[in-house]
Amino acid sequence: MVTPSIPCPVANSSGIKITALETVIPGHIMPGLLLLRIHTDAGFVGHGETYYAPHAVASMIHDWMGRRLLDADPLSVENHWRFLYERASAFGARGAEMRAISAIDLALWDILGQACGKPVWQLLGGKAREKVRIYNSSGGPNYGRRVGEMGEQGWPGHGDLGKPGPLEDNWASNFAAGDLAEELIAEGYTAMKFWTFDRAYYEFGGGYIPWSAVKQYIKPMEEVRNRVGDKIEILLDGHGFFQLPAALRIAEAMRDLRPLWLEDVMRIDNADTLADFRDKAGVPVAVSEMLCSREDYRLVLERRAADYVMIDPTWAGGISETRRLAEFAQAYNIPATMHDCTGPLTLFSGLHVATAVPNVVFQESVRAHIRTFYSSLIDTNVIVENGFALPPTGPGLGTRLLPELFDPANPQYRVSRKS
Ligand SMILES: [Mg+2]
Repeated sequence: MVTPSIPCPVANSSGIKITALETVIPGHIMPGLLLLRIHTDAGFVGHGETYYAPHAVASMIHDWMGRRLLDADPLSVENHWRFLYERASAFGARGAEMRAISAIDLALWDILGQACGKPVWQLLGGKAREKVRIYNSSGGPNYGRRVGEMGEQGWPGHGDLGKPGPLEDNWASNFAAGDLAEELIAEGYTAMKFWTFDRAYYEFGGGYIPWSAVKQYIKPMEEVRNRVGDKIEILLDGHGFFQLPAALRIAEAMRDLRPLWLEDVMRIDNADTLADFRDKAGVPVAVSEMLCSREDYRLVLERRAADYVMIDPTWAGGISETRRLAEFAQAYNIPATMHDCTGPLTLFSGLHVATAVPNVVFQESVRAHIRTFYSSLIDTNVIVENGFALPPTGPGLGTRLLPELFDPANPQYRVSRKS
């Protein structure tokens, strides 16, 4: 595995110190999101985020990892990553621990970029490409946002189906897929992702799916092939809902559609069963933003269980680990692809890695999120042109979380300072 150097002359002993850690959960915007700011005595403010169980991650940052970071050098990015990972490994680094490391890592890369006056992709080694190919995922304006009667966050994979209307891409991908495909092609997209089999899971569970349901939930994708031919790639995400027999039925039905990949149609519990699935599926298989350690990715790659590896920078260990994982997959000639749908800095950090690492082939994106509520979270939005995202141009991440989100009056706000 490749360990990246930090190509910056002030990587160590910079004289800069971390002075405060702030987190907030923007519950009125995206209740699963945790936003992080790391302040320094040099005036640089690093921005990070992660997604799911945000209270647990905030606790990891303030109650456990903060004593390592406060008063420390923010430019020793890799040193902090390794220390926090090794200490968390004492009780299991996956989960909230790795999501906390991920958010911290984003913020430290942001500070490093600001200190060097360069975008993160430049510090990762420079451009491998001038623009990053993106595909549109099926979330609508309320996917990841709509909460229950008690204001709670939805369960993973159980997001808002939406309704007819502009940017309601989850609804459209289920009930007006041909129209959606034509709209995306007109915007320059070359690939679109479907989640139509989520509804099959809600109805039948993950162990068994009747052929009648397979035929029902494949129809939107057949509609796209019939309407626009091969003008757009078809991707299917099963959100890890199915066991092997049901997943193989779905794969068998999908073969004639020539999908770019089937993603997480199989639950990811077991790399050997994933390898069985890939062996029998007869279509390319993507695995998986749900993997949360390099050992998980190693198993999948060693067992030949994936044609693509999907990585979420804010779950798998930040920009540092995402770059390593993407390079690791290169050694197997397996392309990497960046996950999104989980917040604007996830997208930005994925774009930095995708810009700098040749082995990244796609960045996931949700146009409904970019065009509706990301402007209430960040000050500089991603630029999408004709199916590609442009590399961020500003120093560090190239965008900042809006300062007003970090309101001390918000009960979901926390701050830690060196006492
Ligand atoms: Mg997915």
